[in-house]
Amino acid sequence: MSRPSRALIDVQALRRNYRLARELHGGRALAVLKANAYGHGAVACARALESAADGFAVAFLDEAIQLRHAGIGGPILVLEGCFTRAELVEAHAHHCWVAVHQEEQLSALEQAPSQIQGIHAWLKFDSGMRRAGFPLTQAKALAQRLQSCEAVSRMTLMTHFARADEPESQATTRQIAAFDSATAGISAERSLANSAGLLAWPAARRDWSRPGILLYGADPLPGNPSALSPVMTLESEVFAVRELEEGDALGYGAHYVAATRRRIGLVAIGYADGYPRTVPPGTPVMAGTHRAQIVGRVSMDMLTIDLTDFPSEGVGSKVELWGRNIPVNDVASAVGTIGYELLCHVQRVPRIYDNASATT
Ligand SMILES: *Cc1c(COP(=O)(O)O)cnc(C)c1O
Repeated sequence: MSRPSRALIDVQALRRNYRLARELHGGRALAVLKANAYGHGAVACARALESAADGFAVAFLDEAIQLRHAGIGGPILVLEGCFTRAELVEAHAHHCWVAVHQEEQLSALEQAPSQIQGIHAWLKFDSGMRRAGFPLTQAKALAQRLQSCEAVSRMTLMTHFARADEPESQATTRQIAAFDSATAGISAERSLANSAGLLAWPAARRDWSRPGILLYGADPLPGNPSALSPVMTLESEVFAVRELEEGDALGYGAHYVAATRRRIGLVAIGYADGYPRTVPPGTPVMAGTHRAQIVGRVSMDMLTIDLTDFPSEGVGSKVELWGRNIPVNDVASAVGTIGYELLCHVQRVPRIYDNASATT
């Protein structure tokens, strides 16, 4: 018998979220599968989306090659582009699209060996994030250089938003305006929006969107009553019950001391699985049909919940750490981070796909 902890992946929800993004955006959408599909399993997610998706995007070439080795055809954009000239040869061999965001990458294309042909290059501009990307002041000259490359057969212009998840901020409007005015007249397709851009900024909708987090059903906008469906349910079971007497201290560091008699459920999941150790006491979990709370410290392989008020729950009760009932964003905000990070950190537990044969 294996331990009862797993990440259930709702493949239909993933497909629904993708369709929703695509309908909302209007243009084509690259499903972003970097970081092992934000912890959901990149190969299985790619298979689940393959017939619907216009293409995929990953951060690094390794991630693209992993998908190719698993038999995924169709476009894959490498968002950080190639780090070396050898990688460009590899990217070409695996039919990947590549981002070009700095001089070394552009020179590598200009000086590429003649067998490298037909590259679809995504020229990335910094429109205000001050991270990766060429300055917009050089947009026309750079576009011309890229289009003159023998190796390049197609060019798309892209930029990335710093604050699209802040609907009140004017930063995104400024980024869009800066991008539009600097690239006006360049004949190429365009791609601006990540998930938050797609959801909150209709002005950012162009030929291609690049949704990531929204595919997995975690809305990046604060307090958004979202139509997205959560894809991952991280769950385990109560495997033992402890009665604590008044004054008993529970677990490492005697972090929790029972003020009255308590009935405590031990749950077979811990920080080694990606559940954050730093959750405050009182963080909600779903125990069977009841909303219960974490007490004491999260350990490497188990955590403890208070079942005093729920006598019907006990050994064998299912416990949802996040998913349909407990939004991952709620757990994330309790520990001062974002849903993205918690999802990416899920490990050790098997991923179970509801209607796909593929596993991790
Ligand atoms: C990660 C990434 C995305 C997806 O972002 P989400 O916020 O998850 O939608 C889109 N574009 C680029 C360039 C990225 O690095």
